[in-house]
Amino acid sequence: MRISFAPLRTAAEQGEMPPPLPHSPKCNHCSLAGICLPDEITLLKEMEAADAETNEEAEEKETASGQIRRLLPSRDDAIPVYVVGQGNTVRKKGERLEIWSREGKVGEAKLREISQLSLYGGVEITTPAMVELMQRGVPVIHYTHGGWFLGICLGTTHKNVELRMHQFHCALDPKRSILLAQKAVAGKIKNCRTLVRRNDSMRSTSSLSLLAKLVAEAEEAPSSESLLGIEGAAAECYFSRFANLLKGRKEGDKDFSFENRNRRPPKDPVNAVLSYLYGILVKDLFVTLLAVGFDPYLGFYHRPRYGRPALALDMMEEFRPIIADSVAINLFNNEELSRKDFIKTCAEVTLTSNGKKALISGYERRMETEIVHPLFGYKVSYRRVLEVQARLLARTISGEIKEYSPFCTR
Ligand code: SF4
Repeated sequence: MRISFAPLRTAAEQGEMPPPLPHSPKCNHCSLAGICLPDEITLLKEMEAADAETNEEAEEKETASGQIRRLLPSRDDAIPVYVVGQGNTVRKKGERLEIWSREGKVGEAKLREISQLSLYGGVEITTPAMVELMQRGVPVIHYTHGGWFLGICLGTTHKNVELRMHQFHCALDPKRSILLAQKAVAGKIKNCRTLVRRNDSMRSTSSLSLLAKLVAEAEEAPSSESLLGIEGAAAECYFSRFANLLKGRKEGDKDFSFENRNRRPPKDPVNAVLSYLYGILVKDLFVTLLAVGFDPYLGFYHRPRYGRPALALDMMEEFRPIIADSVAINLFNNEELSRKDFIKTCAEVTLTSNGKKALISGYERRMETEIVHPLFGYKVSYRRVLEVQARLLARTISGEIKEYSPFCTR
């Protein structure tokens, strides 16, 4: 029997990912399932087709196979490595990376277990170590000593040029851009509201009502300018409640009080921690977007500006409250940070090396935490959620699904 490869060639030449097989048993053992997301895309298409149904009914709808299969692993086996310490050097030794200070070796990690390497401040890396990481596709990310994301070293860029073409078309189309910007801002405000509802000891119903109203306004906002106004009003309301989310250590303890959000430079420990965490989160989203095939510098809400990772900032909106803010609240409330973890000058507050280590460890714990996906119903780590959402965004801008659904916890 002669097999014709013509349909396969035609599909490859179109430059479009073919639609996933609906409910196919082949997907159970397919190595592409984490990229293809067959059940998730099928569910979202079914929900879009069910126009007459209410959102709630649509969310409860199950696929013909009974439920969404978790075809992608819930978490990554490889983990990020952070090197914090002026004068440290990263070297390759056999199948390991070693970290040396001036006094001697301070740490090591197996190369195959590293997902990314983050270097803070004056940390050096040898050429053999850099080349090995490039060949393995492991990004090396550089930060200033204060945690400002400087840049990334990667072997080669992603080959998915079709996705970048879709991204550029979408960013140049104001109608499509505003739809994605609405989702980003509405998702962020929804998650801010959830954090306040869960943790505000005073349970301010007026703030919750205002945030709910702003979510509705964001979903209908006609322009980026109006979205900026809505986002500003939501931030003012949210941060006016933020002090209530932090348990005071003792009556009159002013060390970790919070009055308002300030940055560049942060003027108090809570703002220093928030700024540092936002820096780590935007870097994680930058790396995730690169891995999926996007250009992280071209966004739909944040406008392009030299050196600004606009798409990473767009995607960060929905995750700011539930990842970064949540980590900050836990670090302070569990007393994992103390006053000796901060350096105060008259102009700013910064973290010490030990403070940064405590913060990174709290952040990594959060990223490894598994949560039930509100739409798909399976457990997945926050780190994996970043990738799932980036892939859903890719399928939205390529037109396969109509609407992007931000990740909103209940
Ligand atoms: S996961 Fe996607 S690529 Fe793999 S068999 Fe299923 S539909 Fe095909």
